[in-house]
Amino acid sequence: MLAIENLDVVYEDVILVLKSVTLEVPRGEIVALLGANGAGKTTVLRAITGLLDIHRGSITRGSVTLDGRPIDHLDAPGTVAAGIGQVMEGRRIFTEFTVEENLRIGAHTADRDTIGAGLERAYTLFPVLAERRTQVAGYLSGGEQQMLAMGRALMAQPDYLLLDEPSLGLAPLLVQQMKDLILEINEQGTAVLLVEQNAAMALSVASHGYVLETGKIVMDKSAEALRADDDIREFYLGLA
Ligand code: ATP
Repeated sequence: MLAIENLDVVYEDVILVLKSVTLEVPRGEIVALLGANGAGKTTVLRAITGLLDIHRGSITRGSVTLDGRPIDHLDAPGTVAAGIGQVMEGRRIFTEFTVEENLRIGAHTADRDTIGAGLERAYTLFPVLAERRTQVAGYLSGGEQQMLAMGRALMAQPDYLLLDEPSLGLAPLLVQQMKDLILEINEQGTAVLLVEQNAAMALSVASHGYVLETGKIVMDKSAEALRADDDIREFYLGLA
């Protein structure tokens, strides 16, 4: 289990952006983290993946653990090696490199068989990437670049995949496709922490969800209970 307990995070030693955040991602499950712009969702992901430092952020209280072992001292490659993959907001693929080169960058080993199996998994999940394996990634559409970023994260065979707004900027049909892909990746045994502003999409795939408001967890419920909650329906699902 990936667990965050009573976590406080500050930026530049002053701005407290996470306040006693507690959140769990059990092995094999899909967990949604919802919240408005600026609530602190990306900061939660940075705290898990060792990326706070480069954003001048730090943990001032609480813990991040994987199966009971602290992981908050690990750097980004260290968290990948520990079994945590992530797709950052904005995708961050290498636009000058080919699709296959981008995928290979995600493998954290030089072992040929592992890389071969990873490529096969990525090309099976995302056939469009197989068709375009030798093309420069900059020519892919936004949705295809999102798939490439996911494929790259899966190359290291993570137990946990952290996704930051995978549906952002996608047309409705592609959001549906993204949803199916998340379910398929999960069925293959990978747990997912899904950060989304698209609450309807996130709650349709997740088993559990958290709502973050100005750095605090204000709801911690099953996805089913969240879907039925009046405030969630009004403010996050746009239903009266
Ligand atoms: P969004 O959906 O817009 O990405 P978010 O919920 O992911 O929002 P964060 O990006 O985690 O929110 O930001 C939380 C708060 O921390 C915001 O008020 C943001 O301005 C602030 N913040 C983020 N990064 C830094 C930084 N490097 N230095 C100072 N403040 C920061």
